Amino acid sequence: MTLDGKHALVTGGGTGIGLAIARALANAGAEVTITGRRAEVLDAVAGPRLHPQVMDVTDEASVTQGVAAAVAARGPVQVCIPNAGIAEGRALHKTDTDFWRRIMATNLDGAFWTIRECLHDMRRAEWGRVVAVSSIAGLRGLKGASAYTASKHGLIGLVRALSEDYLGMALTFNAVCPGYVDTEIVTRNVASIAARAGVTEDAARATMIATNRHNRLIAPDEVAQAVLWLCGPGSSSVNGQCIEIAGGQV
Ligand code: NDP
Repeated sequence: MTLDGKHALVTGGGTGIGLAIARALANAGAEVTITGRRAEVLDAVAGPRLHPQVMDVTDEASVTQGVAAAVAARGPVQVCIPNAGIAEGRALHKTDTDFWRRIMATNLDGAFWTIRECLHDMRRAEWGRVVAVSSIAGLRGLKGASAYTASKHGLIGLVRALSEDYLGMALTFNAVCPGYVDTEIVTRNVASIAARAGVTEDAARATMIATNRHNRLIAPDEVAQAVLWLCGPGSSSVNGQCIEIAGGQV
């Protein structure tokens, strides 16, 4: 499969799942813009076909300017991967508006602005792919994480609606829904779950692993390979779908 000459943009492309996706797309021949808030993180992984662009997905102007700068440097975006996200849990009765807005702004507003800015050119192009990184929490409720669950359900709703809106064009809109993946998000959550539940970090990690149907954490590249397939010619008729990457049925 080749993506030679295609411009891909991956939000949160400097770390974890986003970086694995960016590398997989670059290995397939794409020129990949990787975005995030921390320039030093992006610069540390930049290289041939991986191009850093500082962009805060919670800031509409930053997204507009970031996508415009990427387009000016590498041409219209043909592969758009809204991946940037934060995963923090809190019971709803302890959720204040700032917490709720922070989760929504990053996980949902950020995807909305990123896709919209990429769509301006995609609608005129002959080919385009959008693959959002949702979560198993986009398909079922995740205990103790109502805001995160709502944001990831919202992302799937967005992708499904877009797959209807642009039917008949050579554009597809899909989502991947991973279970727990071995990234910094899991590392950070182990500490916070341990503190909230009053258990050791080993016990908290074991609880997260036990929720994965095959009883292990998923590797970031397992998610990346599914995204790569959704960007390739073999999946042209797959549109408005959510691919679970969780070792079993959610
Ligand atoms: P990471 O924390 O490694 O990645 C999150 C990325 O998002 C970082 O690169 C971060 O960069 C970026 N990001 C966060 N906030 C912003 C912002 N305001 N503007 C721009 N970029 C931002 O974790 P993962 O790789 O695990 O997470 C990637 C996605 O996968 C998330 O959407 C997450 O919800 C989802 N996911 C993760 C799972 C897991 O178990 N790990 C399971 C299911 C889904 P920076 O901080 O520099 O801005």
